[in-house]
Amino acid sequence: MGGMSVLAGDDGDMARQRREMVEQLKSYGISNPRVLDAFVNVRRHQFVEQRMRAYAYDDCAWPIGYGQTISQPYTVAYMTSLLVERCPSGKVLEIGTGSGYQAAILDALGYRVFTIERIAGLYEMAGRSLDSLGIPVARRLGDGTLGWPEEAPFDGIVITAAAPHAPAPLLDQLADGGVMVVPIGDLGFQQMTVVRRSGSKFEHEVFHGFAFVPLYGREGWPDTPE
Ligand code: SAM
Repeated sequence: MGGMSVLAGDDGDMARQRREMVEQLKSYGISNPRVLDAFVNVRRHQFVEQRMRAYAYDDCAWPIGYGQTISQPYTVAYMTSLLVERCPSGKVLEIGTGSGYQAAILDALGYRVFTIERIAGLYEMAGRSLDSLGIPVARRLGDGTLGWPEEAPFDGIVITAAAPHAPAPLLDQLADGGVMVVPIGDLGFQQMTVVRRSGSKFEHEVFHGFAFVPLYGREGWPDTPE
């Protein structure tokens, strides 16, 4: 797992800024100690564009190219807490690799991480960031709404883009007792939702509102939304 390796060669000022970011996350109500530790350990400045590095520890979503964003630390921490509290270990699939930061956080928490990205440029960029930090995440380029059937079942699935509904192929790929964390709604506003599988039943819990970039694909929004 990459939790320790991400500290190698870290810059002292960045480490200080990262601890300040974690204090801010605590003040916003993030309290799970494992989640907070992961945020102390993972170097977000290595997942943002070079010109944004000085701002990497602000609680902001930043552009990463191709019209996409690295999610705000609070949002990543919120989703990760929902996952950790219901699924403390095991195999996790992330849909929407983006910068690779959320995947690195999941790795630091000790999960076996799989991630899918649909944009080739981001798939490659995230791969370079994760590889340079020695973070062992399995990556795939393609439509994540179809999942990764060869690796199923997953104990957890995290969708980091706005979904119109929980994609059926991903529900099929959840282990019995597994959970999916997914923002569900329209293109402007979504509610963070946890779907837990019990056999053939799926129970939904609904949490706070967020605004994510769209989940495109066969089980998401059409590529050219109206
Ligand atoms: N998790 C990312 C991070 O830590 O930087 C942020 C994700 S960004 C908010 C949403 C990502 O979902 C974008 O990179 C976008 O290209 C990707 N995406 C959208 N639809 C997708 C799909 N069907 N399959 C895989 N990735 C998708």
